[in-house]
Amino acid sequence: MSDLDPRSPEGAPPGASRTEAQATGFLDERHLELKRRAQAWAAAARLEEEHDPRRLVERLAEGELLRACVPAAFGGLRERVELRDLTVLRAVLGYRSSLADTMFAMQGLGSYPVTLAGTDGQRAALLPRVARGEAICAFAITEPEAGSDVSGIATRAVRDGDSYLLDGEKTFISNAGIADHYVVFARTADDRHRGISAFCVEGGANGLTTTPIELIAPHPIGTVRFAGCRIPVSARLGEEGDGFKLAMATLDFFRTSVGAAAVGMAARARAEAIARVKTRRQFGKPLAEFQATQIAIAEMAMDVAASTLLVLSAAHRLDVTAAPSAVDAAMAKLYATEAAQRVIDRAVQLHGGQGVVAGAIVERLYREVRALRIYEGTSEIQKLVIARSLLR
Ligand SMILES: Cc1cc2nc3c(=O)[nH]c(=O)nc-3n(C[C@H](O)[C@H](O)[C@H](O)COP(=O)(O)OP(=O)(O)OC[C@H]3O[C@@H](n4cnc5c(N)ncnc54)[C@H](O)[C@@H]3O)c2cc1C
Repeated sequence: MSDLDPRSPEGAPPGASRTEAQATGFLDERHLELKRRAQAWAAAARLEEEHDPRRLVERLAEGELLRACVPAAFGGLRERVELRDLTVLRAVLGYRSSLADTMFAMQGLGSYPVTLAGTDGQRAALLPRVARGEAICAFAITEPEAGSDVSGIATRAVRDGDSYLLDGEKTFISNAGIADHYVVFARTADDRHRGISAFCVEGGANGLTTTPIELIAPHPIGTVRFAGCRIPVSARLGEEGDGFKLAMATLDFFRTSVGAAAVGMAARARAEAIARVKTRRQFGKPLAEFQATQIAIAEMAMDVAASTLLVLSAAHRLDVTAAPSAVDAAMAKLYATEAAQRVIDRAVQLHGGQGVVAGAIVERLYREVRALRIYEGTSEIQKLVIARSLLR
């Protein structure tokens, strides 16, 4: 049983305490207390029954979870945003409701560039509202012709006196259409990396339009188009040319937390599978008594435990050194999301026909987990990050 595993508010059962103990070494009492509080709250809040993204953000604010996304000076939980808080909370939410996890993650991802590079004025205007669930955030970098190749973006921000004019198209933007604020990455010069700048754009800005995209699992997402969208110079985050570094610093921070969400989802699938094989009888005995089933359960447990350790060690190292490690984050995200896919697929298989019935928990997880291997950098891109660092 992993420490991130939100299934057991009372702690890990005997016999599975080794991983728990190791994982606890990466967390301190503050994170464990947050985990216990979030587990109790999430269970009582019946998050899986709430399907309205805006309402979910309000609920997350009521539970005070969103405070983990911003620094204490702006209504947050700790002096600075701690990755271990985000990993603990995303595992708890991933276990209960992927949509709640998405809404939580986007409040963090869409506001973190402001935390990192905003002026005090920009921070004060946005971050307290993020923590209170009054402002919904989005992070807009992907374009139709620039996905994995982030530095290939073509959206332009052209200076015009005291403003910039934004023109271009973003796609696959979580919270498109419901966001109050978009952190938008756009080109202010031709240099591939140093020509990119970041801007905080209001959802209601003139010249900004959105179109929803429907995915295989619930997720508010769509395209965002800018046509002569005028924004003040004061909306720029940092200096001109800082955008690429800011985007990478944000993604290096949040990628590990995607792994945590995957751990939560995998832990849920494992729990559902264990419950099922104990009760489903075939050939005169419970499925759990067949060795093939036991091997499957053991491999699922090992996948969850290994993912937990990679996620927590990456989060711990980042919090302690305050230096994002692209390799740690890539390994945590890559391993945990791939492992979650395996675990959930096995859980479906162990459920037999019941596993693919619409509305079954493992059927829902099967659809929901797929995007995690794609967003915030595909699995292949994570491998390139790891290999390039080793071969440098
Ligand atoms: C649910 C969801 C939410 C998202 N939310 C956001 C968001 O909020 N904001 C945002 O900006 N973006 C968001 N995205 C976009 C996401 O980050 C991109 O989809 C992702 O980076 C991949 O880009 P792409 O879809 O263009 O695929 P492509 O880049 O076209 O890749 C297609 C395939 O080619 C592979 N590939 C590409 N380059 C290489 C290479 N050099 N070597 C080997 N293989 C390669 C990829 O791994 C992939 O398998 C979201 C996507 C999804 C699915």
